[in-house]
Amino acid sequence: MTDIIEKLFRTGDLTDGELEALIETEDTEAAALLRERADQVRRESYGDKVFLRGLIEISSFCRNDCLYCGIRRSNKDAERYRLSPEDILACADEGYRLGFRTFVMQGGEDAFFTDSILCGLIREIKQRHPDCAVTLSLGERSEESYRLLREAGADRYLLRHEAASDELYGKLHPAEMSLAKRKECLFTLKRLGYQVGAGFMVGAPYQTTKHIIEDLRFLQELQPQMIGIGPFVPHHNTPFADEKGGTLGLTLRLLGILRLMFPKVLLPATTALGTISPTGREQGLKTGCNVVMPNLSPVSVRKKYDLYDNKICTGEEAAECRGCLQRRIESAGYSVAQERGDAAGFFTGNDDQRRNT
Ligand code: SF4
Repeated sequence: MTDIIEKLFRTGDLTDGELEALIETEDTEAAALLRERADQVRRESYGDKVFLRGLIEISSFCRNDCLYCGIRRSNKDAERYRLSPEDILACADEGYRLGFRTFVMQGGEDAFFTDSILCGLIREIKQRHPDCAVTLSLGERSEESYRLLREAGADRYLLRHEAASDELYGKLHPAEMSLAKRKECLFTLKRLGYQVGAGFMVGAPYQTTKHIIEDLRFLQELQPQMIGIGPFVPHHNTPFADEKGGTLGLTLRLLGILRLMFPKVLLPATTALGTISPTGREQGLKTGCNVVMPNLSPVSVRKKYDLYDNKICTGEEAAECRGCLQRRIESAGYSVAQERGDAAGFFTGNDDQRRNT
């Protein structure tokens, strides 16, 4: 395993057979070496910096019915809410005061949030806080919509591809959704000049090592600036209620592999990782992660953005969340960066300068 990890460290790639062996190994010495090399590579590009993204969960309404998701439209017990534009702006103002320089507006695919409402919000946030980046995570929209949102000032877009295998994608989603559409959205977003985030769940029902290798190969093709992965955590009101969740060990191995395959990528230590282990996010940071996403949503709605069971950080005020994460980051040996935190080598001036190196 040592040779495989050193090859990945040196070259940034492996054969499918080598990836399979590394993904499946439970060897603790291999885990330690992978963590060490991943940390070395993240420090070469980012030093000890960890970027904060202030997450604003704007709506728990969703027209989709992804089988793993607690706010899927078929879940009649889900509590639905949407934040008003005033609420969202207040969250961003509070986040700015707390030192956040990126705001992530995330929500289900909710028709209430028209292009016009979203463009108004993006412009207002940018006007109030010109040194901040705006990230959207609002699912599949039309090319025209993505273009308008980009022109209004949105910098980044997160859209997990979830599964790069047609067969697995089909088992996790209803028939009206398609992997081809998801991929098309991701390539469109890149073409429009967004910094793009893709990603997948680890340990999703029916997922095999071969599926994970397909995910890694798709990410090599897409070359996103951000990659979000986290363990699958079942939700009690979904068809996958009784399925097993993803494990900490496999998630950490994949984070280490991703850092070595994509040395400059922005890699979050996700809330789901913190949900399956009290030290999950710290371990993620030590295995190549360089982003955390504290919650800025009003406490009154946090529990309603109920994607999976036992989600952590649903009771704390924004300032508490920020303080808690700062302590966790520092205890893991890293420091909080009070800046936008674009991907290394990504120019953020006008569109002519925008390119990915
Ligand atoms: S995963 Fe996203 S698109 Fe799918 S049901 Fe949940 S909120 Fe909607």
